[in-house]
Amino acid sequence: MATDRDRAPADRATTGRPPSVDALARSLSGVGLPWAICVDIAREAIAAGEPENAEARARAFRRTLLMPVVNATGVLLHTNLGRAPIGAHQPERPTNVELDLATGERGSRQRPVGQLLAKLCGAEAAMVVNNNAGAVMLVLAALAFDRGVAVSRGESVEIGGAFRVPDVMEQSGATLVDVGTTNRTRIADYAAAIERGRGPGGSPPIALTMKVHPSNFRVEGFVESTSVLELSALGVPVVADIGSGLIDANCPWLSGPPPAWLAGEPGARQNLEAGAALVTFSGDKLFGGPQAGIIVGRRDLVDRCARHPLARALRPGGMVLAALQATAISYLDRTVTRDVAFWRMVAAPIDVLQQRAAALCAATTGVHQEASTAMPGAGSAPGATMPSVAVVIDGDHLAHFRGRPTPIIGRVRDGRTLLDLRSVDPDDDVLVGAALAAR
Ligand SMILES: *Cc1c(COP(=O)(O)O)cnc(C)c1O
Repeated sequence: MATDRDRAPADRATTGRPPSVDALARSLSGVGLPWAICVDIAREAIAAGEPENAEARARAFRRTLLMPVVNATGVLLHTNLGRAPIGAHQPERPTNVELDLATGERGSRQRPVGQLLAKLCGAEAAMVVNNNAGAVMLVLAALAFDRGVAVSRGESVEIGGAFRVPDVMEQSGATLVDVGTTNRTRIADYAAAIERGRGPGGSPPIALTMKVHPSNFRVEGFVESTSVLELSALGVPVVADIGSGLIDANCPWLSGPPPAWLAGEPGARQNLEAGAALVTFSGDKLFGGPQAGIIVGRRDLVDRCARHPLARALRPGGMVLAALQATAISYLDRTVTRDVAFWRMVAAPIDVLQQRAAALCAATTGVHQEASTAMPGAGSAPGATMPSVAVVIDGDHLAHFRGRPTPIIGRVRDGRTLLDLRSVDPDDDVLVGAALAAR
């Protein structure tokens, strides 16, 4: 007698009965999903009365999982695509995350990468948490709990992804003390807040002044702000949340001068030189590493952050630390434009992009190349663009490209599909070429 297991989905035509869950699930094995998921999908398809759609459902589910994609948007740090692309930096082996190899005793997971990041930024000390939102939260909780933090009204910003300075402040237990106005804040405004905090009358004592880089927007016109240099003279530690993680505004890892689009972007090193007690930034923006939040600056303050209970809740895993270490070493070795994907994309000469585009266009009909503009992305350097090259086809083909075995993410402008090559790894041109040919 035929069991459920033997009956193939096609039996439905001959028996009139729906296929068994088991048989239908087995027919999905080629999609590359775990057996338990295939069974769920088969069961749902049968319950919906459409077993013939089980494979389409399975393929759709497969595409809800993480997979490598080709970023042809021209936005180099695309938040939806995980910001900075990073490689695997670790063999499948234990690492000395918290072991001091000299003594055999327990060590600090902050030490290995911390010392490299400190060296890189010209700081006394550094530590790492899961992201920059966590870094800011930890700094505020560890150094300003139950006290005030003076922030310019123009810097009480929302960065996107729900990072809002007033909300982070509230969660940390520190009190936001607004100073100045939206467009103009002077040193005297901070000084007055500090003075009020020293006097009677219930104003919170000011534990920190904080500069927040507005990152994703610009205020122009009748604008005045106070520099870290001026603020540091007030005798209260200055925390600079620079956000994007430009280590050094002079970009010594590039062969030429800093690119024009970086003008005005604050560097960690320059903020520390100007007197910031601490600087916080993301690991996966302009730094070009894994998602992480980095705190650099005075050793006593970094130590207080590291000892706070939140530091345990926000601590990064060994994979992140290994990737950060590799990125930091690339900076110290000046191999960034070879080894760090973000800076490799930035440094790609325009004529090389043109040659890649020409090769793609020669291989397919109906494709031509155009000058394009790429952007750093991730809310860094708002409005900044860098010259790039796109291969262009008429019509909106985003779904076709997104549906490829390795999805290719492009953009549409004026009814045409643009694949920007600055954000595409040259090794992936073959995938772009195959997708162009298959349309
Ligand atoms: C991006 C950014 C953050 C948030 O950093 P995440 O790493 O995304 O948590 C905080 N502050 C500034 C100024 C930023 O630019």
